[in-house]
Amino acid sequence: MTKRILILGGTEDARALAELLNEETNCEVITSLAGRTSQPAEQAGTVRVGGFGGADPLEGYLRENEVDLLIDATHPYAAQISANAARASAGADVPCFRLERPAWAALDADNWIHVKTAEEAAAALPTGARALVTVGTGGLAPFLERLDIHVTARVIERPAEPPMPPHKIMVARPPFALEDELLLMRTEHITHLVSKNSGGKKMAPKIAAARELAIPVVMLDRPKLPEIETARNLNHALAIMGRLLA
Ligand code: NAP
Repeated sequence: MTKRILILGGTEDARALAELLNEETNCEVITSLAGRTSQPAEQAGTVRVGGFGGADPLEGYLRENEVDLLIDATHPYAAQISANAARASAGADVPCFRLERPAWAALDADNWIHVKTAEEAAAALPTGARALVTVGTGGLAPFLERLDIHVTARVIERPAEPPMPPHKIMVARPPFALEDELLLMRTEHITHLVSKNSGGKKMAPKIAAARELAIPVVMLDRPKLPEIETARNLNHALAIMGRLLA
């Protein structure tokens, strides 16, 4: 019998998983997007857009749509939807696992300043710093409030309000090549990189560029998420799926 799978998405991994399941299995795949991005990348299978209204309505969605498996493939910093997913799957008695890339780790020579919030990250920048800030549009406010530093904020979605000089916004969508990251950091005379630890098998070019230029990285550490079974890559996800749907 065809199994119905709900993927909570918004990440490259969620897109890749939907494509793989669509091509390689006879599962019916629905990907759920929050609707933050005005032009989301193309996606295999069915797509639904917008919040559910909390954990209880998500539980209702799982029941009403007879979902057989829930996969939380949201970004590691999307803590609310992950908490809702864990609660809703338990409530609806639908198996659930997370697909999450392993975090990047600093090498000995790296200078990473670990922080927990965007506020702490902004406070960690010294007066006069020229920071490349790559934490998404939502986390920019504490950086843009600092008028004693110079922020270049790279975002996918332009914020509603333009920032006050000397700050500037760069709208760009990954992936970025190492040479381009090096060029950007050199031409903007970047002294600090601010990043989330999005993770992945390969270190992101921005982190590699900061390493090459000996630029300190203010790293927002990952929030704590519910303890559920976690796949580290697509093959691992397929193996877990096979077991949960058997
Ligand atoms: P969040 O704080 O965990 O979620 C806030 C609310 O947004 C959730 O309670 C839920 O609303 C809705 N939501 C989030 N993801 C959803 C999904 N896939 N489908 C339906 N509703 C969703 O999440 P966030 O940090 O704002 O991130 C929003 C989306 O952007 C996520 O899907 C995530 O994968 C993606 N993303 C986030 C980041 C990041 O750094 N946070 C980076 C890249 C991509 P209801 O409670 O109403 O259901």
